[in-house]
Amino acid sequence: MSEKKIDTLCIQAGYEPKNGEPRVVPIVQSTTYAYDTASNLADLFDLKADGYFYTRLANPTVSAFENKLCALDGGVGAIACASGMSATLLAILNVCNAGDNIVSTRSIYGGTYNLFSITLKKYGIECRFFDPDDSFETIDALVDEHTKVIFAETLANPTIVVLDFDKIASVAKKHGVLFMVDNTLVTPVLCRPIELGANIVLYSSSKYLDGHAVALGGCIVDGGNFDYAASSRYPEFNTPDESYHGLVYSSLGKTAFAVKCRVQMMRDLGAIMSPQNAFLTNLGMETLALRMARHCENAAKVARFLSENDKVEWVKHPSLESDKYFSLAQKYLPNGMGGMMSFGVKGGSEKAAEFMEKLKMIKIVTHVADARSCVLHPASTTPRQLSKEDLDAIGIADNLIRLSVGIENADDIIEDISNALAQI
Ligand SMILES: *Cc1c(COP(=O)(O)O)cnc(C)c1O
Repeated sequence: MSEKKIDTLCIQAGYEPKNGEPRVVPIVQSTTYAYDTASNLADLFDLKADGYFYTRLANPTVSAFENKLCALDGGVGAIACASGMSATLLAILNVCNAGDNIVSTRSIYGGTYNLFSITLKKYGIECRFFDPDDSFETIDALVDEHTKVIFAETLANPTIVVLDFDKIASVAKKHGVLFMVDNTLVTPVLCRPIELGANIVLYSSSKYLDGHAVALGGCIVDGGNFDYAASSRYPEFNTPDESYHGLVYSSLGKTAFAVKCRVQMMRDLGAIMSPQNAFLTNLGMETLALRMARHCENAAKVARFLSENDKVEWVKHPSLESDKYFSLAQKYLPNGMGGMMSFGVKGGSEKAAEFMEKLKMIKIVTHVADARSCVLHPASTTPRQLSKEDLDAIGIADNLIRLSVGIENADDIIEDISNALAQI
């Protein structure tokens, strides 16, 4: 059978009921699983058999979600996490120890920026930041023998920078370093990073995957396209893991990263997604392809409207021909650029706040990428912990309003924005 289209996979992938079983993936609200013999359980621990033994490692409802996202991305394995932040943390810790470094674009989600620049540093993992527009040579010069990861976001939150996949993938390839991509703001419906050279894809499923702002979660998808056995950069994959009775992860072949991440990282850090959240996220994903199409269509209309309004100083959305990332978006996001945009109203921070308070339907929330349109003023909220210098460094102007365009009727979204702009 030919591989199913992405909109079909959104609905059908990840769960196949056996005769008489529930048609819809059930919520398995159990921490543990019963076995007839001790050797049944021993085989599971030894990875000789597939099955569930403790929900901190795996759970059937969580697996259904993991399998679906893995199919959407064309990966070989996926690990669902309690949040997007924990997904990023586990993926990094799966390959980095004290003394190692990561090379990351500066245009990343504020929480990830904090994790990389402050928290990981305390544990001896250094992050070397580059500007997304930096040349191959500049980025290349940051990589040394202790570099374990090159990190970027497909579409950066909230600066709306489109990732130049070829540029970053070629640096990663040249040095044999893992290329990790946070694909949260476009989802596999609009971009499949593994096909563009990424090795590991990360998600905050709290955003479009769930799509309704009801379940926090994250996920790590393993592309299965990195040869650990042939690399000297990742000795932990090629030496026996004492904590897992001498398992050598590279001997597992394509699934080495995913297996290590689950049996070692998830075992020790315990940040797995709950079955309830997996159920809700999985349900949300059934309409992911439909929703993304509408988000894209609405956002392009709203971006055009904003770009023609004289109270607006600037608009960033790669659907606009005037946008700096228009051509990269044509290349990597041909099916749409998602619902996220940022813009600046004339008059600075004060006018930005005033505009947001005049909105009626569109609410001010610390969230993005769900069915409801919403706004945020990042300079005064999400990255509140960041200094003015940090904000400048990651490209957040003080009048920047982050707008997440929902799937309401575009005319109603535009009317709300238009009325609010008229009042400032
Ligand atoms: C929200 C977000 C995260 C963090 O995810 P949580 O689920 O909130 O922990 C990471 N990356 C991006 C791009 C995000 O938008």
